Amino acid sequence: MDLLGLSVREMSKGLRDKQFTSAELTRVFLAEAKRRNDELNAYVLLTETEALAQAEASDARYAEGKPLSALDGIPCALKDIFNTRGVRTTCCSKMLERFVPPYDATAVSKLRDAGVVFLGKTNMDEFACGGSTEHSCFGPTMNPADPSTIAGGSSGGSAAAVAGNMAPFAMGTDTGGSIRQPASLCGCVGLKPTYGRISRSGVTSMASSLDTIGHFTKTVGDSALILQALAGHDPRDATTPEVLVPDYLKDLEKGVKGLKIGLPKEYFAEGVDPEVRDAVMAVAKVYESLGAIVKEVSLPCTKYAVAVYYIIMPAELSANLARFDGIRYGSRPKKEGESIVDYYYNARGEGFGAEIKRRIMIGTYVLSAGYYDAFYNKALKVRTLIKNDFDAVFKEVDVLLTPTSPIPAFKPGEKINDPIAMYLADALTIPANAAGVPALSVPCGVTAAGLPIGMQLITPQFTESLLFQVGRAYEKAVG
Ligand code: GLN
Repeated sequence: MDLLGLSVREMSKGLRDKQFTSAELTRVFLAEAKRRNDELNAYVLLTETEALAQAEASDARYAEGKPLSALDGIPCALKDIFNTRGVRTTCCSKMLERFVPPYDATAVSKLRDAGVVFLGKTNMDEFACGGSTEHSCFGPTMNPADPSTIAGGSSGGSAAAVAGNMAPFAMGTDTGGSIRQPASLCGCVGLKPTYGRISRSGVTSMASSLDTIGHFTKTVGDSALILQALAGHDPRDATTPEVLVPDYLKDLEKGVKGLKIGLPKEYFAEGVDPEVRDAVMAVAKVYESLGAIVKEVSLPCTKYAVAVYYIIMPAELSANLARFDGIRYGSRPKKEGESIVDYYYNARGEGFGAEIKRRIMIGTYVLSAGYYDAFYNKALKVRTLIKNDFDAVFKEVDVLLTPTSPIPAFKPGEKINDPIAMYLADALTIPANAAGVPALSVPCGVTAAGLPIGMQLITPQFTESLLFQVGRAYEKAVG
């Protein structure tokens, strides 16, 4: 049996029916990860011994007929920004090169309690800042669909691990597109849930008002199953409201008949690759054939999203990264210097990469006296307008359909020296973070060159069930 090709739901059934064991599954994925990692660089750490011990414990539970959950015994990969008890967690920064957390992130402990097996930690842009993993201190992750191109970012390692059959599912974070963009570039399903739907406790903060936890899977149904295990209030994260967690699989097969699907014209404008645009327009036709009503809509403030993000994100990032001073958090500098200021200067100078330094400078600037109102406060106001656009459009339609990334995967080095070009790659994913609404990227074809294309579905806050329902309808129709 081709264990590598199974979905999580199929694996779960296979484990229950005793077709294979968790140890078998875990060995197969570890072997594939080792075989491909030299080329792809998806993992920065494989925790083989721990994984096999977890798998054997899971098999013992199945043997007794007492699995902990539907996810018991299923292997998974974790972005190296999730704190893992006793296992190095670097955020792919030299600053945290030797950091071993004393506790698990809430998302990790929920998965652990469900019986999930952790294969290892995946590559990412340093502190989740980037869209290609080229800002990782471990070097970039390459795309399994075409290893001469990058996997996207910042959660590129997790996307490549799932698309490259090196993990059945993987965890990531999305602040401006870091789950959806690499999912789209690598050809897997990526979910950014509603802001606050999954606890962020124990996951290093990038920009706190935008950060979300989510995951990569091969299928939409798997995405629903995993959200079920992770969603909910956590007393350790005050931004997780006590909103009821529905049964995410209940409406999965309901179809789209009668649903209103909006195509926001701003998301198909200049800058979107014609092959990407055509692929997403073809999806709209599929939905129409399934009985949905498709119409053009407008979100006029979309054009401000990137500018707003690159003020709010660096402002929050610069504050969050202030704790990494080589004393409270982060590595000691090689040279300590004469004064405490020298010490900070050396610790932060050595520990942070160039992109992080650029963002700290921007963030500090927009928060400084005299500029705070002109930049930061203004950006907050425009953010509200972006949110208002979504509120208005969801009075007209049930769901939005857009491209995820305006372009398919690119070559390493192509954008690294042009930060603005790199930032524009997130133009279509950032608005959902600004508004706090959930969004799902689903594969919808390939370019003539064979590179994956992803479509993005967006729905109102806390309606992930609808996202899955609509995503699944397409997946089922095209096979
Ligand atoms: N690529 C975006 C950035 O560089 C998004 C990052 C993210 O979502 N973590 O900020």
